[in-house]
Amino acid sequence: MTETFNFQAEIQQVLDILVHSLYTEREIFLRELISNASDALHRVQFELLTNREVQDADAELAIEIKVDDEAGTITISDTGIGMTRDDLINNLGVIARSGAKAFIQAAQQAQNGGAADIIGQFGVGFYSVFMVADKIQITTRSYLPEEPAYLWESTGVATYTIEPGERETRGTDIVVYLKEDAKEFASEWKVKDIIRRHSDYIAFPIYVGESEEATNKQQAIWRQDPKEITDEQYNDFYKMLTMDWNEPLYHIHMRADVPLQFYTLLYIPGGTDLGILSPRKEPGLKLYARKVLIQEYNKDLLPEYLGFVQGVVDSEDLPLNVSRESVQATRIMANLKKTLTGKVLTELKRMAQKNREDYLAIYEQFGRFIKQGVAASPADRTDIEPLLFFASTRSDSPDELFTLEEYIERRAEGQDDIYYIMGEDFHSVSRSPHLDAFRQRGIEVLYFTDPVDPFMLMGLPDYKSHKLRSVDEAEIDLSSIGQAEDESARPEPLPEDTFTALRDHFAAVLGERVRDVRQSKTLTGSPARLISDESGASRQMFRINRLLDRDYELPVKILELNPRHPLLHNLSGLLAQDSDNPLVNVVVEQVFETALLQDGIHPDPSAMAGRLNLLMQAATGTPAAELNYEAVRSAVPEAVVEEADTDAEGGEEEA
Ligand code: ADP
Ligand code: MG
Repeated sequence: MTETFNFQAEIQQVLDILVHSLYTEREIFLRELISNASDALHRVQFELLTNREVQDADAELAIEIKVDDEAGTITISDTGIGMTRDDLINNLGVIARSGAKAFIQAAQQAQNGGAADIIGQFGVGFYSVFMVADKIQITTRSYLPEEPAYLWESTGVATYTIEPGERETRGTDIVVYLKEDAKEFASEWKVKDIIRRHSDYIAFPIYVGESEEATNKQQAIWRQDPKEITDEQYNDFYKMLTMDWNEPLYHIHMRADVPLQFYTLLYIPGGTDLGILSPRKEPGLKLYARKVLIQEYNKDLLPEYLGFVQGVVDSEDLPLNVSRESVQATRIMANLKKTLTGKVLTELKRMAQKNREDYLAIYEQFGRFIKQGVAASPADRTDIEPLLFFASTRSDSPDELFTLEEYIERRAEGQDDIYYIMGEDFHSVSRSPHLDAFRQRGIEVLYFTDPVDPFMLMGLPDYKSHKLRSVDEAEIDLSSIGQAEDESARPEPLPEDTFTALRDHFAAVLGERVRDVRQSKTLTGSPARLISDESGASRQMFRINRLLDRDYELPVKILELNPRHPLLHNLSGLLAQDSDNPLVNVVVEQVFETALLQDGIHPDPSAMAGRLNLLMQAATGTPAAELNYEAVRSAVPEAVVEEADTDAEGGEEEA
């Protein structure tokens, strides 16, 4: 009896796009079917090793492709794991992967010409066959001894059918009925050509037609001598592995003999997008034991912060009949992880020192993962430190980056600590009043403007025993560091008692919004800045919480006033004339909010517009008594609490 099923709605959409798209690279359908056959063979190979009872245990693990140019069909057969009735429904009727929605969107936006790229990137896998087929018949029989064979059939429109099928042995036959305009694929020559270009590294023999010789080389490239492999072969293998269309930035190919024997070929991808779009949707390396695939995504071979690394590890030491669950627990795995992590970090370090430009291309893509490693894997910290690069006041360019070592080497006279300024973006931070004194004295400051920098800092209190200190720390005393300032070139400070009166007025107006108001010894170009006496990484906690979309409270800081600044001179004059002049308080508020803005922590900058308009009106001639102060409100309430978006469920771990 024949049962009819509907495809899941998303699949129907994918099919609709595939069937109606025209593109030149339709041949990738064969790559997809072969890759599925290969997966099925790997899986049965694994079952055979773990001593499960398997149908036709002696059958050769192979793929066979037959073409019939009269009927216009291609048949791809494998002796793989096969499918039960439930497998057919769950694996071919439903898309499990989250990429399907993204694919649908991207495909609808792309012109027809771009669709092949999209299919490659998104790995729609099996369904790509409907680019060339108007009907598919699958006859399959599971490796489970009691399972019967089934026949699955679909024309790629809305429904498929399942009925009892005829197949004596384990495995799957897929008969592709080619569309009128795709008959060219019913040619042995063509099929062989496609295999050589797209599927040469498949580990099982692919026999085409009556030939007894496999069309593909079946080489495990990672077991070959690096001297014999060209860059093109490395890149081809990478593409096969990840289906990433971009070239990888770097590869590491190594073989180890002691204490562990293993082969590995690792890649650093060209970009970070890979994780979402490619069929390699999770981080992890492919783990083989003596050429047999044990795990598609093994996350225990590298620390999490190196999760962007792709590739293959093939161990000679892992027992073959190890179960997937217990792989993790073996001591061999811990050793492998140590060796691989060490290798990746040393290679990166070597590159950072000898080939800075290439390294910085990697850092641009993956720097934020590397930085997280400092906090997440304290044991690796000293290996990661040479991999960190930052912009600095030395060049004042966001594109020129320096290492901590370089910073240390050119410290100013008398300088022991490493100074950094933290903020949201390079340009606003580079204009910060905190830098006044440092610039004046010729002391370099590093820019920490990456959202993950606060995380990194949690694991990096110092570098080679030089403390990392934020430029807005209250206790910083620069008086004995670098070039002394030329005091005579600066305007006179306000007399002590005048300043105290002004200070007290600021304190009264700002109330709880500041912890204290103090006189600044360091400011030159700016009237005020906010400093903080909180120590170390905890001062950046609000940034981390903000990044994680958690509730956070803006820190209450100390306002530092520059007694030499003309604005404060004027303000003090106004105050002396008429202590009830409402304009004074408006200016006080604006001085405070400007300082918040310059630190990137103003909760609502546009709320300043009303006050700024009023101040401009005053500056252009409206007498203070005629201004409308009603319209001006503080944008910063007493306790500054920012509520995180509450609708972002489950987004807490996003970094
Ligand atoms: P993917 O290979 O990424 O899982 P596909 O769309 O290519 O996605 O295939 C969907 C699923 O169909 C596979 O995961 C597998 O379970 C099943 N499948 C496809 N072809 C075969 C085959 N030749 N033998 C056994 N199962 C298969
Ligand atoms: Mg597939």
